[in-house]
Amino acid sequence: MAQAPAKLTIRQEFEDRFAGSLALHERARGAIPGGITHDGRHLRPFPIYVDRAAGAHKWDVDGHELIDYAVGHGSLLLGHGDPDVTAAVAAQLERGTHYGAGHQGEIRWAEQILDLLPAADQVKFTASGTESTLLAMRLARAATGKPTILKFEGHFHGWNDYALKGEKPPFAAPTSPGVPDAVMGTVAVVPANDPAAVAARLAEGDVSGIILEPSGGSWAMIPLVEGFLEQLRTLATAHGAVLIFDEVITGFRWSPGGAQAVVGVAPDLTTLAKIVAGGLPGGAVAGRAEIMGLLAFRDDPAWNATRKVRHPGTFNANPLSAAAGLACLQKCADGAVQRRCDDLGARLRSGLNAVFARRGAPGFAYGERSVFHVVLGATPTNATDGDLRFPDGVDAATLKGAAGPLAGPLQQGMLLEGVDLFNSGGLLCVAHTEADIDQTVAAFDRVLGRLEDEGAFDSAAIG
Ligand code: PMP
Repeated sequence: MAQAPAKLTIRQEFEDRFAGSLALHERARGAIPGGITHDGRHLRPFPIYVDRAAGAHKWDVDGHELIDYAVGHGSLLLGHGDPDVTAAVAAQLERGTHYGAGHQGEIRWAEQILDLLPAADQVKFTASGTESTLLAMRLARAATGKPTILKFEGHFHGWNDYALKGEKPPFAAPTSPGVPDAVMGTVAVVPANDPAAVAARLAEGDVSGIILEPSGGSWAMIPLVEGFLEQLRTLATAHGAVLIFDEVITGFRWSPGGAQAVVGVAPDLTTLAKIVAGGLPGGAVAGRAEIMGLLAFRDDPAWNATRKVRHPGTFNANPLSAAAGLACLQKCADGAVQRRCDDLGARLRSGLNAVFARRGAPGFAYGERSVFHVVLGATPTNATDGDLRFPDGVDAATLKGAAGPLAGPLQQGMLLEGVDLFNSGGLLCVAHTEADIDQTVAAFDRVLGRLEDEGAFDSAAIG
């Protein structure tokens, strides 16, 4: 990587060297609100536009080769263009992309998922993670006859109306206009890691289901204390509430059996997307037969008319996603892929923390398994120069804000070094190499130096 001319700031150099993306962004803003198609891709002064991708790398429209830590928003555990997934999709393309009917691929896909998730008896396909959490919450209400969903501050479950409450700081404020107060009133939000708050809310008697990311909010960004999931399981059972693990990120990434297999806690329902569909659009809800059976028609017109849980969806289990998902899950079934990604994740987190320690800069990297987050401007009480899962003494809002006001400059600085982060952190795939990790750590060292030189840490008020 060529060293930046000292006189340019990160932002100036970014605008200079990513001019093709800037031009496309200007054009995109005319046709697409804000010029971006996912809120998570918002980046000031502009986001990058990508031309192609292979393995763990992608190439932007200005010709930069970038190490990719977004990996399809976490869906590409095998990396871009895995040959087996690509071949399965290509073979399916020849045979049709939508039959308007059941097909063998969806049955194989379902059976493969159930093999990997022993707590689940049945699975129903959706078109996205947002649809999966929507369906799981509906099932919880239908199974219990109670109205309220209990969720946790900073836990992300997609963009359906019920998922938005308490999703980002300030946790008590509505995340988005357009969600009726009546809907908001059916969602209760409590801080994670507080079993007493959960117990108190359950005692009110109206909770149908408890939904959470079993990694802690936003893929381990707000980690859970040991034992919390076990406590939730006990509380949910005691109060007749449906326990929903949202494994849209952790499913098949934390282990072949997801986070639930790692911690040994069985949810009643599991929501899936991303890896489950092999990087193509798709999702699923898997769970206990007694609850999943609410989706089935019966030889009873009264049941079918008003008591069966409705769930149509044009692209549920579409043949392309089924082919990609099955090929991907078969390759991820023995745990070798996940172990390799976990090792790379630990190497990256440790490397980044060594940079912080050597420079004495305020901030830290943390995470678990094959994900990492970077916080700038705050320091935990237990900071080490190695791997870190649980930063003590940093509150949830700071963790959820991740790199805070420095997130943009960090992302731009890393892009200048040939690294595309995802939300001030990222996810590993099996196509990443030790060389990618070491290059990323060296890049981070230089970017941190530039941020220090620009006085970024002096001016940024990160609480
Ligand atoms: N739940 C979790 C835990 C997620 O991370 C996401 C997406 N990042 C979703 C749900 C929503 O999935 P989708 O974007 O496919 O709607």
